[in-house]
Amino acid sequence: MAHPSPSSSPSEHIHVFWHEGMLDHDQGIGVFDTASDPGFLEVLEKHPENSDRVKNMVSILRKGPISPYISWHQGTSALPSQLLSFHTSEYINQLLEADAAGGKTMCAGTILNPGSWDCALLAAGTTLSAMKHILDGHGKMAFALVRPPGHHAQPTQADGYCFLNNAGLAVQLAIDSGCKRVAVIDIDVHYGNGTAEGFYLSDRVLTISLHMNHGSWGPSHPQKGSVDELGDDKGFGFNLNIPLPNGTGDRGYEYAMTELVVPAIEKFDPDIIVMVVGQDSSAFDPNGRQCLTMEGYREIGRMVRNMADKHCEGRLLVVQEGGYHITYSAYCLHATLEGVLNLPVPLLSDPIAYYPEDEALTVKEVDFIKKYWKETVPFLGEE
Ligand SMILES: [Zn+2]
Repeated sequence: MAHPSPSSSPSEHIHVFWHEGMLDHDQGIGVFDTASDPGFLEVLEKHPENSDRVKNMVSILRKGPISPYISWHQGTSALPSQLLSFHTSEYINQLLEADAAGGKTMCAGTILNPGSWDCALLAAGTTLSAMKHILDGHGKMAFALVRPPGHHAQPTQADGYCFLNNAGLAVQLAIDSGCKRVAVIDIDVHYGNGTAEGFYLSDRVLTISLHMNHGSWGPSHPQKGSVDELGDDKGFGFNLNIPLPNGTGDRGYEYAMTELVVPAIEKFDPDIIVMVVGQDSSAFDPNGRQCLTMEGYREIGRMVRNMADKHCEGRLLVVQEGGYHITYSAYCLHATLEGVLNLPVPLLSDPIAYYPEDEALTVKEVDFIKKYWKETVPFLGEE
């Protein structure tokens, strides 16, 4: 599966934006992500979205074989006023009040504790800095290594460990800075419902999300992530959902990328691509039911890079979202960025990949989605 396209040459660097202040957000311990102890267990665990996962991501990018290809940049905090390009003032006020009150559970599993708000502002500001770096022409490819994650945060509410939509804010900055069309490709295992919601009426932002078929999960996440959530008004057809059967692995994802994502990007012809990555689509993630391995992430990274080269003069922002296996997430991130760099041979071998893949169901589903889009989505039906 690893064959570099002749259309792209290896790129020198990825500009990684990071600030260690983002380690201070702590959602406590409990039964998985509940942050509560009903008293039945001897050993509780950290909330899955904890600082250890990101410490390992920083570490592998600093110490792993990819390190010579990375230049590091200090992230910065967003000002609350900058958040209004994506979020409503009512919602931002709720967050400010929750912080002033010493914390609040915003929704299931999403806990704003003392210090969390500063981290959320750093994640948003760091992602904006990474986007600005590209828009100002200082680099083609940047990676916002941020937490708390953002793609579930909607204009009006928190959801799924997310408070502020980091990628959504960056997309809006690109539009406000003169980009005509921005494409978002979200490979986190969960539906990027917040980003979709933010641009649901827009034909200038194409949001594509590949996710497991998890459906709605309560009042904070009313969206289903199904193929018929296509956007509204002018934005009809510019939100493309690709719910993949549980167990989809490297070959299934590659098929979905080749058959669905690449042709849609071809027709949309964006000025810049925002790749939203979560390693919770790996075979070992506690929050996901998909089966990607490092090889799959590497290939997806390479495909996205080739699309950026073809349509966007190489302009590609990568934004970190979920990924909860403490060690494998870091390895999968390393592999993704190897792909984004279009390196000819893998730099790092996979320490644990061994699950088999049966892609028959995925191929069937992808073929169905392709036919459905052709009949339903105007810009994909045109020849
Ligand atoms: Zn996720």
